[in-house]
Order: sequence, then structure tokens, then C-alpha cells
Amino acid sequence: MSQAPAPARRRATELRRLVHHHEDLYYRQGRPEISDLEFDRLMAELAGLEAAHPDLATADSPTRRVGGAPLEGFVQVRHEPPMQSLDNTYSLEELREWGARLERLAPDGARGFVAELKVDGVSVSLLYEDGVFVRGATRGNGLIGDDITANLRTIRALPLRLRGRLRGRLLVRGEVYLPRSVFRRLNREREEAGLPLFVNPRNSTAGTIRLLDSREVAARQLAALVYHVAEGPRLGSHAEALERLGEWGFPVHDSWRRCPDLAAVEAFVGDWRERRRELDFETDGVVVKIDELALRERLGSTAKSPRWAVAFKYEPERGETVVREIVVQVGRTGVLTPVAVLEPVFVGGTTVRRATLHNYEDLARKDVRVGDTVRVERGGDVIPKVVEVVLERRPSGALPFEMPARCPQCGEAVVREEGEVAWRCVNPVCPAVVAVSIRHFAGRNAMDIEGLGDERIEQLLAAGLLHDFPDLYRLERSALAALDGWGDRSADKLLASIEASRGRELHRLLFALGIRQVGERVAKLLAGHFGSLAALAAASEEELIAVPEVGPKVAAGIRAFFADPRQRQRLEALAAAGVSPPEAARATPAGPLSGKSVVLTGRLAGFSREEATALLERLGARVAAAVSKKTDLVIAGEDAGSKLAKARELGVPVEGEEALRAWSGRGGASR
Ligand code: AMP
Ligand code: ZN
Repeated sequence: MSQAPAPARRRATELRRLVHHHEDLYYRQGRPEISDLEFDRLMAELAGLEAAHPDLATADSPTRRVGGAPLEGFVQVRHEPPMQSLDNTYSLEELREWGARLERLAPDGARGFVAELKVDGVSVSLLYEDGVFVRGATRGNGLIGDDITANLRTIRALPLRLRGRLRGRLLVRGEVYLPRSVFRRLNREREEAGLPLFVNPRNSTAGTIRLLDSREVAARQLAALVYHVAEGPRLGSHAEALERLGEWGFPVHDSWRRCPDLAAVEAFVGDWRERRRELDFETDGVVVKIDELALRERLGSTAKSPRWAVAFKYEPERGETVVREIVVQVGRTGVLTPVAVLEPVFVGGTTVRRATLHNYEDLARKDVRVGDTVRVERGGDVIPKVVEVVLERRPSGALPFEMPARCPQCGEAVVREEGEVAWRCVNPVCPAVVAVSIRHFAGRNAMDIEGLGDERIEQLLAAGLLHDFPDLYRLERSALAALDGWGDRSADKLLASIEASRGRELHRLLFALGIRQVGERVAKLLAGHFGSLAALAAASEEELIAVPEVGPKVAAGIRAFFADPRQRQRLEALAAAGVSPPEAARATPAGPLSGKSVVLTGRLAGFSREEATALLERLGARVAAAVSKKTDLVIAGEDAGSKLAKARELGVPVEGEEALRAWSGRGGASR
């Protein structure tokens, strides 16, 4: 393999330094100095250099954060020393008892403590060698955990290389968590996709961190905080450890305090009781630790937990009140959410008037009825919830709640699809959902109408200029220019991008229509197969299933779409407005792989998965996810696993990455 020329090597080093620097400013210090776009450019340049010269791709390169090929399973890691749990205390009383016990165990010991917030996430251990991140693991049972290095690399808050000159091993522990803001967004997306919602950020973190595909982890935007040095340079106190962790570049939350005595700890507990709700991570308590490390060592641990630390848990704040009414809200994706309207009650520092009942299933399980006395809780999360009904206080004659048969917004019958917990309104033009379908229609991968964000869509809907997406093509300049905050220039710009969208390719239009089960990829396959909207609309279920990768479920979704009179109306309105994609080339492109089914596996040094897929498609191939008897060719990169084995078993021809390089015309590393 050839070596990268010196200038490329120098530039890669410089880029890595820059990216590390800006990641640190952004993720750990919260004061970025460059725009996201500029940051992306640095990353892209670095990725380009590494792709051209694979020998430049080091283990600590920030490009590794995008994730690598999926694993077949996790390797196990032994924790030395074990990762213990903490004893819990639930009252200041118990906390004082813990202090008294310490006093008896070490009457002459120092009395300083450190108080920290207890992050409610998933604990991990991180190993650095000579300042470079080499391995990370889950706690598992405390003695043995899973090696989740690839997943942890994707967490931008965690440094891949430490600042300063650190020699030898450094073993630290911390907590990985899903920021509340990301959690809310994730659940909105899951709701949209009809997937069951995550119960809380902790659960979704636990689910995410053990995904086998690190690229999926990268997309979830986990964060982390570090709070313990288990092995490393000699340190005198825990406070010193926390300071040094910060200097090395670890994310350390700055809320920790040195407390000379337990009275100071109690003050810390009181300070954060309410304020913790404003944080972007969930915290269910405070961890109190002896500061002096020598004393810690003397105190040692029991089988389960250290004697020198204890967790103080905030009691979840609960209150009792009466359900006045149960209303049903229609979310932006059509999902119906029951909400309890309550007699106002003071819980955990605020007056609670409404509490979510999540979904019908949850409500039915708790059997909440109008008139019931219920216990509401404000846990770590901001949104209060109904925990249970106080059955003894149920008024006679209270009836079980029934989900309305019709959408409260548009009056259409609501449906609940198999395998889904949510009821939803599927009226494509229901006022509750139309904003989302317009947004989707205009999206970058759909009709790509620039300048049509959420706010503007809401504005156009409110002004009555828009009721559904076909109306976009009837917007008038004068009406737009007269809107608040607009003007001739913005009106012209929007009209120009709407105009440009009339001729978008068929696959974009198909995707834009929001046909259930038809994502970008299926839209492309359909466009390639049928060539025109009319041909697709006329296709029978059998003809649809004949298209590679289209199964019965997708076929049914497509048939249902074209059978719906409202969708037909929409299509007619689009056609009348002159939206007509050019006929797609029907025949598969004539390339060396024309009509062949190809599977990619393993890690490619010179191509991203997307690049490789695009290249193969240009050559006429269809890129499939799994190896079967119908596979014509497997391209295997490094560390290819079960797919390669399967190919060998079935006698499918296998090529290495050189084949891709040859087709792409990049001589690359094989020179
Ligand atoms: P538990 O799992 O309830 O026994 O609580 C112990 C766990 O709390 C530890 O294993 C850590 O994962 C977690 N934890 C969260 N924040 C901290 C912190 N600041 N210091 C120590 N442990 C913490
Ligand atoms: Zn509706």
C-alpha cells in the first residue's frame, strides 16, 4: 500500500486538530466559534483525504464518529476494578446516618465531601492509552460488560484524543445519556413512523448504546458526562480528579461542589431540587463522595458498593387530584393522544392542570375515568403524568373512557393499525396533519422547494393561502408579498423555487406524495420500474410485488393510496397545476452490472457506503441488503462477517474493494 504524500499527511493532521478543537468548543464548552457549515467542510475535507489515502485514517480520527459496519455481536470486557453500584438514601435523615457511620469507621479521617448530580443514564467505562481512546464498555453486571467502543466513538462529547501529554493507561467512568431535547425529537419521529414511543430518555439510551450498527447510534446524538478516574496518574482528591478530567477534554458537568461537611451537602441537595428540571439531562439525585482519595482507599467497599460514596435520591413529587375531563389531541402526524384535564394541584413546585395519558393502551391499562381521583407525578421529566387511580375514591357511575371513533379535528373515522399502539386520523387533508405533509412534500429529498420551512407553512395555512400542497402551485405574488415579514423579494424567491419543482424527477414526486410505506428508496425502484405516475397508478398488486424489494405490505400501501378518492383529487390538482415529472428511463442503465443484484459487506477503506451504493447503481446494479440465492455478486471489505460466509456457502461470486476502485476509475491505494 502506498504512503500518503507529506503535504496530505500534514493537512490531515492539521484538520484533525481543528476538528477536535471545534468539537471541544461546541460539545464541551458550549461556545462554538465557527458555523455548522464550516465545521462540516472541515470534516468533509478530512474524510476526503482519508478516503484517498487510507493510511491517513487513524484510530482517533473524528471521521470515525460516523460509525462503521454493523457488528455481529459484542465482545465482553472484564472490569478491573469492578463497576459497583451505589447505596441509596431517600431522606436527609438517612444521609446523616451515613455520615455518622463514616465518623465511626474513620474517626480521625478528613471530613471533606464532593457533591455531584446523579446523571440518570447508562454507565460506561472508557479506556485511553497514551491519550487515545481505545476501548469503552457498558457496566453489564459490574464485573463483565459489553465492548461498545464503536458506538462510543460516535458520541461527540467524548474525546477521541486527550489534551496534554498523557502516558500509559487512563481508565475513567461516566454516564451516557440522551439529552432531553433530543429525546423529545426522537419520540416525535417515532410517533410519525408509528413506532412505539420510548418511555424515558434512560430507556432509549440503554436501547441505543447496545445497537449493533454504530451508524444508527451516530444518528441518535447521545451525550455523556464523566465523573470518575478509576486508573491513571496519581491524584490526591476527587476534586482534583474532576478538574483534571476537564483539562484533559472530558465533559464534566460544572455543578459539582466541594462540601466541607454534610450541612453543605444538604444545601447542595436543596439547591438542585428544582433547578435540575432545567438541565438537558435527567437526574434523580445527588452523589456524595468523600473527597480525599487516601481515605477512600482506607474505607474500601462492600461486595456491592463503595463505603465512601452514597446516592441521595430525590423523591418523585406526587400529588392527588381529580380528573375533570379527558380530551383527545391530534398530533401533527395524526396520532391521537388522550390528555387528562385536572383540578389544578400543586406538585413539585408548580401547578399542574393537565397530564398526559400517553396513548389509549396506557389509559385503558390504568383505567382512568372522568371523575376519578388520580395520583400525578412529576419525575425527572417536565411533563407530569398520571401514575394510578385511587380506586376507593371512584365516584359511582364513572364510565370507562372510550377513544372517540372520529377525529376531533376533522370528523373522519380514526384507525388503529395492526401492531401499533396509537390510534390515528388518516385523513390526508385533516387540518391537524396537513402542515406536516406540506413540509414533507417540500423537503430537500422530495420536491426540494427552498424557503418553505415550518414557520412559513404555518403562516400560509393561517392566512388561508394554503390548504394542501397542490395549492402551492396556485400561490399569487401579491398575496404572498402582503404577508407579515415578506415582501416582493421573498415572494419572488419562493415562487421561483416552487416553479422549479414542477419538473422534478418522478421518484422525488413519488416520495413527496407521502404514500405510506414508500420511502426514498422504494420510490426510486418504483420510478425505474414503471416510468410514469399513470403506469404506477394502474399497476395491480401482483405487478407491484413483482418489483424487487416491494413486498405485500408496500404493495397494499400503494394500492390504498391510489384507491383513495382524496388522493386522486390531489393528483389531479397537481397535474392541473402543471406538475409533471419527465418520463423516467425505464430500462435499467446499461452498465457492466446491468440488472445484477449486488450486496455490500464489511468496511470499505476508500468509499462510504453511500458512495459505493451510488457507484453500483450508476453501473446498473441493484444494491440489496441481504445475501440470497438471487444475489449475483458480493463486494466484501475488511472484517466482513456473516454475509460473506453466506455468499461462500451459496457459491455467490465475491470481489474485494479493488473492483469498486477499478469501476470508479480511482486507482487509489492499489497502486
Ligand atoms: P445505582 O445504579 O442506582 O446503584 O446508582 C449507581 C450509578 O449511578 C453508578 O453506577 C453510576 O452509573 C451512576 N452515576 C450517575 N452519576 C454519577 C456520579 N456523578 N457519580 C457516580 N455515579 C454516578
Ligand atoms: Zn383528522
